Amino acid sequence: MPELPEVETIKRELDKTIINKKIVDVIVYNSKVIKEPKKEKFIKELKNVKIKKIIRKGKLLILELSSKKFLTIHLRMTGQIIFPGNAKKSRVSFKLSNGKIIDFNDSRLLGELRLIDNWQDLKFIRELGPEPFEIDVKKFKELLGKRKTKIKVLIMDQKFISGVGNLYAAEALFRAKIDPRRPANKLSDKEKELLFREIKNVLTQAIKYGGSSVDSYVKVSGEKGTYAKFHQVYDRKGEKCYKCKGKIERISLGGRGTYFCPKCQR
Ligand SMILES: [Zn+2]
Repeated sequence: MPELPEVETIKRELDKTIINKKIVDVIVYNSKVIKEPKKEKFIKELKNVKIKKIIRKGKLLILELSSKKFLTIHLRMTGQIIFPGNAKKSRVSFKLSNGKIIDFNDSRLLGELRLIDNWQDLKFIRELGPEPFEIDVKKFKELLGKRKTKIKVLIMDQKFISGVGNLYAAEALFRAKIDPRRPANKLSDKEKELLFREIKNVLTQAIKYGGSSVDSYVKVSGEKGTYAKFHQVYDRKGEKCYKCKGKIERISLGGRGTYFCPKCQR
């Protein structure tokens, strides 16, 4: 599932390719991904508008349009944005005035497209916690406060802090040498500082390498992100820890597969 680095990668690629381009037609192959308004209105209101700006908030992509409306794109599990596209696997394609098309692919049809007046009013946006890059370490410590939730479950909670999903939570905790099962309030000051730094490091590095293509995520160009080669624990059950040569374990935590090294992470 795409997390902050993957969606940020897409945003940066779109910044370079589709700003100020005009949409001249919308071809809907499967309307299930269009959440609002109805298909006919969605198509009509997207014709002959220019894409002014791309915004990312959490895992949501927002296209600001010349019509003052916003096209929001949530990739969920298997959503992909491909440019220039070929409409082969597309659910919805946007044809631009230069003849090129933007494809929205989504094999499992769980993605969400919306054409709305105000993206800030979306319920899940209003509930999003700050992104790690929007706060300092003091604020991070304050947020952790007296929370007894297991640290990995807490940093994955988008209402607590947004943008860190299962993969990057596991990688940041390994780098900070913290056992994912520990209650947040039992972390020392030093550990909190280290964890905050490693969350930002992992996200920054992942953006630099175009994200992690561990499932269906690809960049706008269709190429894979290459951060997976730096993964220390994620999806490495039974393999040797690069640091201590012990075995990486996988447990279930808060309903999610959690990878960690029991020797390195205490
Ligand atoms: Zn280890």
